[in-house]
Amino acid sequence: MTTNIILLGPPGAGKGTQARRLVDERGMTQLSTGDMLREARTSDTEMGHRVAEVMDRGELVTDDIVIGLIEEHMEKDRTNGFIFDGFPRTLAQADALARLLEKHGERLAAVVEMQVDDDVLVKRITLRATCAECGAVYNDEMRPIPSDGKCETCGSTEFKRREDDNEESLKQRLLEYYKKTSPLIGYYYANGQLKRIDGLGEIDEVAEEIDKVLD
Ligand code: ADP
Ligand code: ZN
Repeated sequence: MTTNIILLGPPGAGKGTQARRLVDERGMTQLSTGDMLREARTSDTEMGHRVAEVMDRGELVTDDIVIGLIEEHMEKDRTNGFIFDGFPRTLAQADALARLLEKHGERLAAVVEMQVDDDVLVKRITLRATCAECGAVYNDEMRPIPSDGKCETCGSTEFKRREDDNEESLKQRLLEYYKKTSPLIGYYYANGQLKRIDGLGEIDEVAEEIDKVLD
């Protein structure tokens, strides 16, 4: 049995940043449905186009698509524990995950809820840019891209902004979060699996809190 966790929280809570650190430091495997879908949308198929439209509007992609993606990756990426990042986002997805974990003889060590003020989320996301090479996250105000135009981590000079990191899509993503995903907080609390942490601190401070939950 390995350590599997869910990182739960609104868009911009820092799930991806913390997941990447856990991958580096603990050899866990990040399963980000957002990343999987961003890859899926690049395919020039009916499905790819549909996914792109839904994502750009800031709405949720249908449960069977994301559950299918997770199932596929759990089969082929088995390692030192999974970090579920951006999944589950609905109660149906949470039930599907419970079934998949059971099938693999695994269980959840914890569901980490990363709590962040809504005002902060808006700032984090509308000013966000990421390194095209290594995925390091920058912010025009709080952590600008270095003046030499090179990524601090990998030296790449290419940065990208997400199609859905604009004010309108973000508003929809927040609505989806509060309507469909936030009920999972109560669900996992009732299951005795919820750990709340403050997601507002520096990256290292948040990391320390997550480490405390895991150890
Ligand atoms: P964020 O948490 O910053 O909104 P993600 O990269 O996790 O970003 O997700 C981006 C988009 O991908 C979501 O707005 C949604 O359209 C889609 N998506 C990601 N994960 C799921 C999921 N588990 N269920 C449904 N849609 C998803
Ligand atoms: Zn980089």
